[in-house]
Amino acid sequence: MHRIEHIYINGEFVVPHGQEWFDLHNPSTEAVIGQVRLGDALDAQRAIAAAKAAFPAWARTRREERISALQRMHRSVAAKQEELLEAILVEYGAPANRARSMATYPADVIAQAIDALEAFDFEEQVGMARVILTPVGVAGLITPWNSNAGFICNKLATALAAGCTAVIKPSEMSALQTQVVVSALHEAGLPPGVFNIVNGRGDVVGEEIARHPDVAKISFTGSSAIGRHLIKTGADTLKRVTLELGGKSPTVVLDDADFQAVMPLVMQAGFLNSGQACIAGTRILVPRRRLAEFERLAQEAVSQIHSGNPRNANTDIGPMVSLKQWERVQGYIRSGQEEGARLLAGGEGRPQGLPAGWFVKPTIFTDANNQMCIAREEIFGPVLTIIPYEDDADAISIANDSNYGLSAMVLGTSSERCMAVALQIDSGRVLINTLAYEPRAPFGGFKQSGLGREMGKWGMSAYLEPKTLVGCAPLK
Ligand code: NAD
Repeated sequence: MHRIEHIYINGEFVVPHGQEWFDLHNPSTEAVIGQVRLGDALDAQRAIAAAKAAFPAWARTRREERISALQRMHRSVAAKQEELLEAILVEYGAPANRARSMATYPADVIAQAIDALEAFDFEEQVGMARVILTPVGVAGLITPWNSNAGFICNKLATALAAGCTAVIKPSEMSALQTQVVVSALHEAGLPPGVFNIVNGRGDVVGEEIARHPDVAKISFTGSSAIGRHLIKTGADTLKRVTLELGGKSPTVVLDDADFQAVMPLVMQAGFLNSGQACIAGTRILVPRRRLAEFERLAQEAVSQIHSGNPRNANTDIGPMVSLKQWERVQGYIRSGQEEGARLLAGGEGRPQGLPAGWFVKPTIFTDANNQMCIAREEIFGPVLTIIPYEDDADAISIANDSNYGLSAMVLGTSSERCMAVALQIDSGRVLINTLAYEPRAPFGGFKQSGLGREMGKWGMSAYLEPKTLVGCAPLK
């Protein structure tokens, strides 16, 4: 049994003032595997005070000092890859392949922040003014359970690169991953207070960070509902906010596409991270005149997708993270049937041979319309919805008829036509015949998928305020 009792404030592991213990589960077995002691508002205040005290010195560090600190972080996080992998498998249940990339990503993303810092221009001459980008202050970083270690490292590395100090509120459901990351970051030997990590509930520790006047900026990844709430909470102190929120991403299959060839991309995009991915391609837009052909191939493809023990090499889909999430997904599968969509594969209940664990059958609905709940709401599970369309204009209109706009994929044979469609989709990212990822490009959402961007120079800029100096010597 894991027992995690400490939080991290001012360079030390400390016992929180908060008294509540929170159960950690293995979602593949439903067993309780440990407990984490949660911090409270007072713990959050202490962490914020430490970050505030550390800010002036850290903000004055030179680029080289920050690069050296980030390189130490990178080395120690990379060294914990195997421990992280085990934590991800046990407490989250990501299938082995996915879990491996989730275990390497935290170090990779620190390396990407180093690259961004090396290339970043903090000063610019604009006419007679010198514009200096200065760190905004203490950053409050709040992460979700579906990639906790990765988001801690991404947000923290970017905040530190910009010269901010930080208070992190990780997902309370990911305490094993958090523990591995904190021990690695501690070994990196950064100045005390530069980063602080408080396990706790969102409505207690997260809320305190969101309202506290000494926190200048919030970077949040999570649901759109909490994102909206954070804007309201931060309004009193005019906090800067970066929000990475939910999605209901369309996969637009054009009528010139080779369905057999694109089907693996459709399945991978839809069932990404067991369907628990903000960017999952869960609305599949298919030309009506070729619907039957697409359905037949999709049925064949989904019969090869296995839900089960995440440690098995042939598992594609692991369990849902919690009973609550499992029940929520079941509710959507019921609602799809009640609304009149046709079940092409899967359905309610657990997959055959899996009596325990929060597993869901890979499920595909077809003949759906874009007004159904299963087409509008983020399910966050392995449930895909095929929606027929008439022509390209209709496909674009359905793709854009959504509150979300995080990611989209366009699949087709003519690259000009794919490009023309991609340009008309309201989305922070559009993938054309690929699932490739470019970490130097901005990541974030249109509409209710978010506010602002992470990654590269865009991510750095979100932690900086431009200061205009007039009357000083021009920049050489
Ligand atoms: P969530 O919104 O329930 O929680 C996210 C974090 O916010 C957790 O740490 C939680 O404790 C905290 N929180 C909850 N209430 C709070 C409050 N009142 N004040 C401050 N913090 C609070 O989301 P989740 O269920 O952990 O994660 C899944 C969601 O995250 C999905 O909607 C998914 O699409 C989204 N997500 C988005 C991205 C992206 O990059 N756009 C990436 C991953 C996940």
